[in-house]
Amino acid sequence: MSSNRAVAVEVSNLSKHYGSVVALKNMDLKIHAGEYFVLLGPSGGGKTTLLRTIGGFHKPTSGRVILHGQDVSGLPPDKRPTSMVFQSYALFPHMTVAGNVGYGLSVTKQPKDQIRARTEAMLEMVGLAGYGERKPHELSGGQQQRVQLARSLVLDRDILLLDEPLAALDAKLRKDMCLELKHLQERVGITFVHVTHNQEEAMTIADRIALIADGELVEEGTARDIYEAPLKRFTAEFVGENNLLSGTVSSVTKNSAKVDVGAGTLTVERHDADVAKGDHVSVSIRSELLQVDSAEGRSDGRSLSGTYLETVYLGLTTSHLVKLETGVELKVRLVSGMEEAPPAQGSPVRVTWKAGAARLHVN
Ligand code: ADP
Ligand code: MG
Repeated sequence: MSSNRAVAVEVSNLSKHYGSVVALKNMDLKIHAGEYFVLLGPSGGGKTTLLRTIGGFHKPTSGRVILHGQDVSGLPPDKRPTSMVFQSYALFPHMTVAGNVGYGLSVTKQPKDQIRARTEAMLEMVGLAGYGERKPHELSGGQQQRVQLARSLVLDRDILLLDEPLAALDAKLRKDMCLELKHLQERVGITFVHVTHNQEEAMTIADRIALIADGELVEEGTARDIYEAPLKRFTAEFVGENNLLSGTVSSVTKNSAKVDVGAGTLTVERHDADVAKGDHVSVSIRSELLQVDSAEGRSDGRSLSGTYLETVYLGLTTSHLVKLETGVELKVRLVSGMEEAPPAQGSPVRVTWKAGAARLHVN
């Protein structure tokens, strides 16, 4: 995503308090036009509050919401270039599918045949051509969710806001719908802002992800940025399966730092992280980048010795647990069937990784 693209959504120094609860703290965020943007984070972090504030359903305590360059902070939802897909399906049960989709247009007093044509086009867009006369209860969960989408898209706004749109679907359907949503967004070409607590969903669907927790923007980037090169410890803990080690910097060179983690001293690439000798830092290493080796071998800053604890078979992968002398347990994740026979429980082993696998976090 190039940064010179038009900005569809900008929130500037945005705060939202519910009484004494601070749901958003001085948040700044920019979402580009035509982007599939995901707000990812743990429950209670402020994602829904942010989305609803963008849509005009909540009034900010302070700060501004700017959509396509216009300050809309004082405008109601229907005066904004946004439409919203709510978390629950919230379809009118007594109305047909077509009635549900066309509802938002019927209140605009457009001619009936125009509404009918738009409605049919939208049903086709979401893969429900021919379903217009059914009632919501005659549809599966996935189909009901598509009706919701059509109902929001029919309004022809530039920005679609989706709050956990796939949360009610079972895992398999959620995966399929994820790709469908992504393709739908590519077809309609408008900006999608999608809230989820599910990292897999976020990575599948997003052009860019913002990690939101405790009312703050923790970090943003592409799925690959967030997964492979998390800057913050929080990101490393939330996304993927990372081993986190706390330690103290013992020396620093231009490109790397040595970090004493108690069970050994690690050499970690700095990636411009601002660290000095004596700093308390964290090191993260993704479980699938670790190997379990024999106890022999020299410490080269990219291995730690410990005791083999146990094997947890998970189908596609197998998790191997190794306990360091500090008591910290490392998870090593290998593709099942590809690994050699695991070491005996309680035997000494060495966990190793390649250069670049360990990430340094200042906070
Ligand atoms: P998320 O969508 O990330 O789970 P929310 O935006 O729903 O987070 O909530 C953020 C915080 O604001 C939470 O602490 C939540 O309990 C609180 N909160 C949300 N809505 C209200 C409300 N209407 N009144 C009071 N507190 C609220
Ligand atoms: Mg929410």
